Amino acid sequence: MATESPNVDLAVIGAGVGGCALAAALRRRGWRGSMALLEIGRGPGGRTATRRSRSDRQLALNHGAPLFNITASPEPQLLEPLRRGGWISRFQGAIGSLDEHGQLGAAIANDPLCSGTLWQGSPQMEHVCRGLLNLAQEAAPTPLISGTLVRHLEATSNGWTLRGQQGETLLHCSWLVVSGTLLAHPRCQTVFGWDDVPLQVAAEQSGDPQLQQAWAALAAMPSQASSNLLLSLPANQAGAWRQQPWRLLQFNGAAQERWGIRRVSLQAMAAERWGVVVESSAAFAADHQSVYGSRSSAAQLLGATPKAQAEADVMDALDRALQQALGLSTAGADRQLMRWGAAFPHGPGLAPELSLCPTSRIGFCGDAIAGLGFGRVEGALRSAETLADHLGPFLGAT
Ligand SMILES: Cc1cc2nc3c(=O)[nH]c(=O)nc-3n(C[C@H](O)[C@H](O)[C@H](O)COP(=O)(O)OP(=O)(O)OC[C@H]3O[C@@H](n4cnc5c(N)ncnc54)[C@H](O)[C@@H]3O)c2cc1C
Repeated sequence: MATESPNVDLAVIGAGVGGCALAAALRRRGWRGSMALLEIGRGPGGRTATRRSRSDRQLALNHGAPLFNITASPEPQLLEPLRRGGWISRFQGAIGSLDEHGQLGAAIANDPLCSGTLWQGSPQMEHVCRGLLNLAQEAAPTPLISGTLVRHLEATSNGWTLRGQQGETLLHCSWLVVSGTLLAHPRCQTVFGWDDVPLQVAAEQSGDPQLQQAWAALAAMPSQASSNLLLSLPANQAGAWRQQPWRLLQFNGAAQERWGIRRVSLQAMAAERWGVVVESSAAFAADHQSVYGSRSSAAQLLGATPKAQAEADVMDALDRALQQALGLSTAGADRQLMRWGAAFPHGPGLAPELSLCPTSRIGFCGDAIAGLGFGRVEGALRSAETLADHLGPFLGAT
């Protein structure tokens, strides 16, 4: 028997920091309407997700942001409940830098990712989003529909219908919030082989000039990619890495040019295993843009054909550069590649006045919204809180 597609007051596409923070912020403003989040990945997190493995239960690698920073007060309102609930804690690891001669030095002053107060998910980065969802769910049911790619956005007389890859109805909603830029940006056509850009189609059909402007701004937003090498070292091979005086290592500009690496983080795992996450330079990622990690959720969901040799070549290049730069061996490490096609958006971002289009009943949040923290976790948190302030009254929040 066919089951009817769910109908919710609000659907949120994306369960990264922006989407999860919006859910938490609306619930904390007293809104108890029906809401669901849809997410491609197996769980929440987006670019703050933690890589897990069904076959290796101890594996837990923060393969996107390894930490986040808050640079101004007042801090985002959601920070305190996250801290109180034990979902985040201060980042404790030492930060160092590496120059083009392989010399270790102090942290680079004024690095935009390391100024202000530094935080991490506790114990893993995925717990930032898990904590936000928990804050929402404590107040009212807020289901996360994971492993689900939204392919089509269809405006209806009283809201939106969201459709999946095969055109199947995923759900109907009265209001829609899109986090992340994937559905608006032409890169979705290259990544997924789609013949249209879903938000462009929706904006053109709507005839709403505000939505058309919002789509055009998101579509034109450039971003920096990052090809990340994830290494998992067994306990007996991790000794020299564990003894490093840093947990996060920033490469200066010349070192990035020499080795193609921007940053390295060292992450403790269960049973004395260690993870090393190597974030490539922007130039390295641009040179290898068609090579993605075949173990990523998006690649697996789409059944993309892995390019095994190209993937191995990219991993070899980063691995070699890492060993040369640090003089440390990675022998015995299990390796994976994670490519972030849009790791960091470039400013100025979507103007806040375009982040809610009431005529079309659609809003936008996430780190692509212009303002304090743009391009970082801080911006994703702040944009969600601002959107909750503006959207709440339309939804009937007090
Ligand atoms: C390697 C790396 C290092 C970083 N380092 C730092 C750092 O040190 N400090 C810092 O503050 N920030 C850092 N960042 C940036 C930070 O991770 C982001 O600013 C933040 O996580 C953005 O959150 P968001 O919710 O806006 O977007 P995202 O996390 O991208 O969330 C969007 C979500 O929407 C989902 N989605 C998109 N389209 C669809 C669809 N059609 N259907 C279903 N789901 C969909 C995506 O899967 C994703 O989970 C880093 C990012 C990367 C990649």
